[in-house]
Amino acid sequence: MTGLTMQGISHSFGPQQVLDDVSLHVEQGLIACLLGPSGCGKTTLLRIAAGLEPLQKGRVEIGGRIVAEAGLAELPPEIRNVGLMFQDYALFPHLTVLENVKFGVGAATRNTEAWVASALERMGLVGFAGRYPHELSGGQQQRVALLRALAPEPSILLLDEPFSGLDVTRRAQVREQTHDLLKESGHTALMVTHDPEEAMFMSDQLLIMDEGRVVQTGDPIQIYRHPVSAFVASLFGPINRISTVTENDGSVETALGKFSVTGIPPGTLVDVLVRPEGLHEARNCKNPPTGAVRLRVVTARPIGRSTHLRLVDEKSPHTEDAFHARIPGLFLPTPGSLVDFHVDEAQVFVFPATARQ
Ligand code: ATP
Repeated sequence: MTGLTMQGISHSFGPQQVLDDVSLHVEQGLIACLLGPSGCGKTTLLRIAAGLEPLQKGRVEIGGRIVAEAGLAELPPEIRNVGLMFQDYALFPHLTVLENVKFGVGAATRNTEAWVASALERMGLVGFAGRYPHELSGGQQQRVALLRALAPEPSILLLDEPFSGLDVTRRAQVREQTHDLLKESGHTALMVTHDPEEAMFMSDQLLIMDEGRVVQTGDPIQIYRHPVSAFVASLFGPINRISTVTENDGSVETALGKFSVTGIPPGTLVDVLVRPEGLHEARNCKNPPTGAVRLRVVTARPIGRSTHLRLVDEKSPHTEDAFHARIPGLFLPTPGSLVDFHVDEAQVFVFPATARQ
């Protein structure tokens, strides 16, 4: 099988097990992202794929050949045909942009000069070819590092938080360029991130990790729409959580409305999760819904492209249990005022309650 396959990978650092029987397959030409909270084992998995961390259990296949199998000899990183890009771009400080990129070409068979010229142009680096890394911005260094990693035509590109050092605007721009370059060149890539927006933007295939395990894998939109657990649902950003019990008619009644539930018996203690972007101001809904909920505004704060609202049940005097809404654009109702909301059921998830928050 081409692409990258990791089978039954387990790994410990001393007594701490950080990977527990992880298996994944990244198909040739696709970009996969490992998304999960800090410390869940993403980087360790990537380092094992690269050969930077010795394999303890399982098997790694790259481009259809076994590069590591527990108990057998491992291929060292330099002959695995992987391109690496880590948080620190690790450019050679004594080489210019052009020399850094050419260094990466190594023994590749393509026409080096032509490829380097078009790649520099593609990434907007033509005017910087003679500069040294310290004469570049973080975004420019990132682009040079990407080209150097792609230059030897690797079977797979492994990226660890490659955009984390960039400011918001530059980050969006560089990740778009990176995405387009990888897609146009048909590269296979596995990227680690803990930024859900980045993972959604970049990936064809999303792998959600939690405490050393892959807990959900698939198309990013499918995972966003159909998370398998409260943990996965809450990975995409802060989420409203209401504890309640399922009713006899198979629904849940909450301060944000009544929602239908499937597959959970009546009388079960559940967590109802409602994404802040699932609350819409009822006046602005195309088809004003009948089941609007009236909430009291605690605060309304503009956060650039959207407005963040804290809201409470109209009768509730408590603000500590406030719900959060994110309304596109500028919407600044006066604190204390009452606003009607429609809650989009597609942004509501109900799971049996677990001890974990
Ligand atoms: P982050 O998003 O913060 O980079 P991560 O999901 O990539 O986190 P890893 O870097 O893989 O997580 O680390 C997983 C666990 O293994 C962490 O608890 C970490 O402290 C531990 N760990 C990582 N490398 C080593 C090491 N060389 N020696 C001992 N423990 C390590």
